[in-house]
Amino acid sequence: MAEIRIRNLHKQFTDFTAVKNSSLVLEDGKFVVLLGPSGCGKTTTLRMIAGLEYPTSGQITLDGDDVTYLRPRERDIAMVFQLFALYPHLGVRGNLEFPLRNEGVPRIEIDKRVEETAAILRIGHLLDSSVNGLSGGDRQRVALGRAIVRQPKAFLMDEPLGTLDAEFRELMCVELRKLHDRLKTTTVFVTHDQNEAMALADHIVVMDKGEILQADDPHGIYNFPATLFVARFIGRPPMNLIGADAPVVPGDTSVRIARRNIAVPRVDATSTQVVLGIRPEHVRLCGSDEGCLGGRVKHVEYFGSHWVVEVETEAGALKALADKSARPEQGLQVGLRFDTRRVVLFDAGTEKLLA
Ligand code: ADP
Ligand code: MG
Repeated sequence: MAEIRIRNLHKQFTDFTAVKNSSLVLEDGKFVVLLGPSGCGKTTTLRMIAGLEYPTSGQITLDGDDVTYLRPRERDIAMVFQLFALYPHLGVRGNLEFPLRNEGVPRIEIDKRVEETAAILRIGHLLDSSVNGLSGGDRQRVALGRAIVRQPKAFLMDEPLGTLDAEFRELMCVELRKLHDRLKTTTVFVTHDQNEAMALADHIVVMDKGEILQADDPHGIYNFPATLFVARFIGRPPMNLIGADAPVVPGDTSVRIARRNIAVPRVDATSTQVVLGIRPEHVRLCGSDEGCLGGRVKHVEYFGSHWVVEVETEAGALKALADKSARPEQGLQVGLRFDTRRVVLFDAGTEKLLA
């Protein structure tokens, strides 16, 4: 068990800044996902926590102890690279024993931990098998077992499901989450895939260009994105973002869009350039003389349980969800009704959520 803290962590590669003065508390026992586009500094951050890379400045503590410049094996943290990697010439037992033999753990302790790990992963019956004949799921369990058997203070995983096909990824996501629920070992998991992040995380840390933009639970990240980048990056189809025509001041309960007053939750900040955000599932189609904005159906996409309807309005193209029963015809004149409680406002200048 471990709480990991990073303070003003900074990593400069000659003339390129990979991680910018980032601070973060990774709470004991939580599953934390670092999420962001390729090149945003996720791997560099993880490698600094692991000790595979030293920061240019800043500090990393593990349960209060400064580990910033300790070597990887002095930190008691297990880095899981690709879950699939197994030694083919060793059996299941040999693969599980390997990390412990490497650390010089006594024989009797090795046997005990291998048995415990096999029980946790329900692979006890496979201990004396070769890894070559195993199913994909069992191979993954053995690979995970190699990290668990060390009983580290924390697990670090860098896109461990990256090479798997979609169906297997989902299966392994569920396995990883169940395992974490049982072991409660602090886990830092890196991915660029928001679905993986949403499925796994207690906390999501969204990064872009070396900076931490938001750290929150999945609900907070989805419903109250801290910046316009987070709003665009999280959720498919993405949040509708509409520039308003007039400033807002504290106390306002509407914003001016396309010469209409659109109801919003009570504003308590000032913004000269405000952007209204609303997710497609909080926009409903209604009659052309109802709703807060009108427009023409431009495009319809089928998702089985619902349609995603793109409507061309005076405020630009907006997406709404429609009930699966009736397919809205292209060209149809419709109204859009916003669920006012779900509207969020951003300042276009700072790109931040209005307080
Ligand atoms: P991510 O894992 O989010 O895709 P990385 O942490 O791997 O991003 O990389 C962040 C940025 O730092 C990238 O632009 C990458 O090219 C750069 N970078 C990473 N490692 C090095 C290095 N050893 N030398 C120079 N630049 C690096
Ligand atoms: Mg990476």
